Amino acid sequence: MGKLGNDGMDTKLASGEPRALISRNHLLHNARLIRQTIGPDVKFCAVIKANAYGHGADIVCDTLLNFSADDIEPPLVDAFAVACLDEAIDLPPSTVPIYIFRPVENAYVGQQREKLETAIRRGWILTVCSITAAQDVARLALAVGRQAHIQVMIDTGMSRSGVSPQHFSELMLRIGDMPSLRLIAVCSHFSCSEEADNPATQQQFDLYHHTLEQLSAQRPLLPGSLIVPRSSAAPIRRKPAVGGHSSSPGFIRHIANSGAVFLHRHTHLDMVRPGISLYGIDPACHPCLDRQLKPVLRWVAPLVMIHDIAANTPVGYGQTWRSPRSTRIGLVPVGYADGYLRALSSVGITLVNGLPCPVVGRVSMDLITIDLGPAGDQAIGDEVTLLDADPLSPASAYALAQLSQTIPYELFCRIGSRIPRIAVDPVDVPIQTQSQSDAA
Ligand SMILES: *Cc1c(COP(=O)(O)O)cnc(C)c1O
Repeated sequence: MGKLGNDGMDTKLASGEPRALISRNHLLHNARLIRQTIGPDVKFCAVIKANAYGHGADIVCDTLLNFSADDIEPPLVDAFAVACLDEAIDLPPSTVPIYIFRPVENAYVGQQREKLETAIRRGWILTVCSITAAQDVARLALAVGRQAHIQVMIDTGMSRSGVSPQHFSELMLRIGDMPSLRLIAVCSHFSCSEEADNPATQQQFDLYHHTLEQLSAQRPLLPGSLIVPRSSAAPIRRKPAVGGHSSSPGFIRHIANSGAVFLHRHTHLDMVRPGISLYGIDPACHPCLDRQLKPVLRWVAPLVMIHDIAANTPVGYGQTWRSPRSTRIGLVPVGYADGYLRALSSVGITLVNGLPCPVVGRVSMDLITIDLGPAGDQAIGDEVTLLDADPLSPASAYALAQLSQTIPYELFCRIGSRIPRIAVDPVDVPIQTQSQSDAA
């Protein structure tokens, strides 16, 4: 996780440096919008993997756990999810459950033993997709002397992680026979949910249901098996699903990412797991004004030098760009080592004092050059916006992702560790993150 500042003072101290400004207000707004969309009966698991999509997991956790959003009291979310054990270890102490998406892999359990034991001790929910992994976790749980919390992921069409539907019942049966495991959830993942009309989403959803239904149908044939968690008395659902929904089977069912939260509302089940929308970006990767998401991150850097060049002067490595006219070139101390993609060479757009200034020449490791135009009142020290929080800005994540042939997700994740993440609003709230107060 990058350096972190959390109050107005840090903003001032760091104002001469490149930095990512994180709007708590926008984060709270998006969380509230998601809450309104899912209604009161669905749990909200905030996905904060990859340092909260580059936004700074400390700030994001702190905001979602400790701030209220209008009528909603903290915590705003019911759970967090990260990709791997190391990410969970780096989080500030959390009052809500933490899901680890990356499945426990039998082959690596030896190397990861300590981390897995930490996970079990802290009650993190480990993802298990095979009998061997379940056995490994069960054994570690016995050694630790605590039940391990697990979830099973079913592969319904991603062909990525997850147990295949054919092997699901057997896995569940075996898990039911391991008293040191406590089954918290059964989930799956959509491949195309950001497309409103793609039939793959319904096919995956149907397969998920069908797979769970087979389980309840088989249960009477499997005397002695315990499919529901031992701590729960809730019976497996026996009624067929009505409209895709049904009463709780004793574990949490979840499948919906951001696309499904907004575009496939019947798939919310017991819990949703949005990531990108929480950070204010539409899952379809172009701004959708209907949904009123507010981008949370603005990446800024100072203008550190301005120089005049004559027409036809080459700029940057490889002399790939020459000015068609005499102009002024501005130097900004951010490059591809900071995550300003090299693919934005001579195509990226920045904003200086609200005016678009194109990136000219190649993006270097630590610097970019921008065309300030032949005349203007820009001065050294002026703030350059590299990534704007206005969804319609020419330097929005949508626009820059399109220019560099990627998606906003990647732009955010690339923002490097040299860039401090700084919470900027509300400015009047003095706030310490958990990790800071622990250190104090
Ligand atoms: C990253 C991820 C999500 C969040 O996806 P968004 O498109 O950012 O909402 C949800 N579930 C899983 C398993 C993921 O890996």
